[in-house]
Amino acid sequence: MSASTIRKAKKLVADGNVVKIDDDLYQVKSSSDPTKSYMVTSDSCDCLGFKNFYKFHHGKGLKANCSHLEAVRIFLK
Ligand SMILES: [Zn+2]
Repeated sequence: MSASTIRKAKKLVADGNVVKIDDDLYQVKSSSDPTKSYMVTSDSCDCLGFKNFYKFHHGKGLKANCSHLEAVRIFLK
């Protein structure tokens, strides 16, 4: 995972953009567009980057990641 993903994720948490909705369900606001937000669980996110990851790396056994998913991980620490 890239350093910029971690940096973005830390900023999302620091700015209070991660909100717990339910057990294993979080709402994470977009860092680029404050009117947008994504529904994130401990292993999935509905943002385009996450979906595209599986499209581009399908079947290679890689785990998709994005700044929202990483933000939830940091949030839970
Ligand atoms: Zn995401």
